[in-house]
Amino acid sequence: MKKVLLSIYMLLAITSSFSQKSDEIKTNSGILTIQPIYHGAIVFTWNGKTIYVDPYGGAKAYEGVKKPDLILITDIHPDHLNAETLDAIKADQAIIVAPQAVADQIPDKYKPLVRVMNIGSSSTIFDVAITATPMYNLPEEPDSKHPKGRGNGYVLNFGNKLIYISGDTEDIPEMRALKNIDIAFVCMNLPYTMDINQASSAVLEFKPKIVYPYHYRGKDGLSDVNGFKELVNKGDKKIEVRLRNWYPF
Ligand code: ZN
Repeated sequence: MKKVLLSIYMLLAITSSFSQKSDEIKTNSGILTIQPIYHGAIVFTWNGKTIYVDPYGGAKAYEGVKKPDLILITDIHPDHLNAETLDAIKADQAIIVAPQAVADQIPDKYKPLVRVMNIGSSSTIFDVAITATPMYNLPEEPDSKHPKGRGNGYVLNFGNKLIYISGDTEDIPEMRALKNIDIAFVCMNLPYTMDINQASSAVLEFKPKIVYPYHYRGKDGLSDVNGFKELVNKGDKKIEVRLRNWYPF
C-alpha cells in the first residue's frame, strides 16, 4: 500500500509540475536539450552545463529544472530581467551575460556575476561561443520600445550547431542576413515586436533548419503561431516549425 501511495504522490508531483518537455538535438559534442519554459524563457543543457535564457515566470516555471551555470539576459524589461525569478532560480551561483543596460539595472547582489556583452562582441563560456546580435524596433527611433544598442539577441554555438535567439525585435536586416542557423527562436507579439507576417518573411530569408516561435503573447493575447507555421511552410517546406507550449500558466 505504501508503495502504491508513493507512486500516486510521485505521479501527482510530475503532473502538477509546469515544466515542459524537452527536445533533443544531436551535436558533435553530445546532446543539446531544449526546454521551453515561459514566454521568452528557455533552458538549454549541453556538455554538462545548464544555460538559461531570460529567466521569467518565478519558481513554479522552473520546478524540476537544474539550477543555472550560465544565464543570458537580452533586455531590461521585466519579462527578461526579472529579479524575482533570478532569486527563485538561485542565480547567485551562475555567470550572467547581459548588455550594459541590464548590467546597470540588475539588483546589486548580481552585479559581480555579470559579464557585459554588447552588440557585436563575442565570448566563449563553458565551451559555448556566444555572439551578441542587434535587436530593435523599426523604424529606428530613440524613444521606441526597443532602441538599437540597448538589448542583445544572441547567436550560440553548441559544438557544430548554431542557435539564434532573437530577443525583442522586428524583422531587422541583421536577422535577415543570418547564415547557417540550425535552430532559431523568433519572437512575434504586438505591439512590442512584430507580427507573424514579418516574422515568417524574415525566417524565409535566413532559412533556419528549425524555428521555434516564442515570446508570442502580446496586448491582445497569443499570436497565431499556427498561421506563422503555414506562412513559413507555404514558402519553404523544408523549414521545420516547432510549436511548443510557452504559456503553461
Ligand atoms: Zn519581451
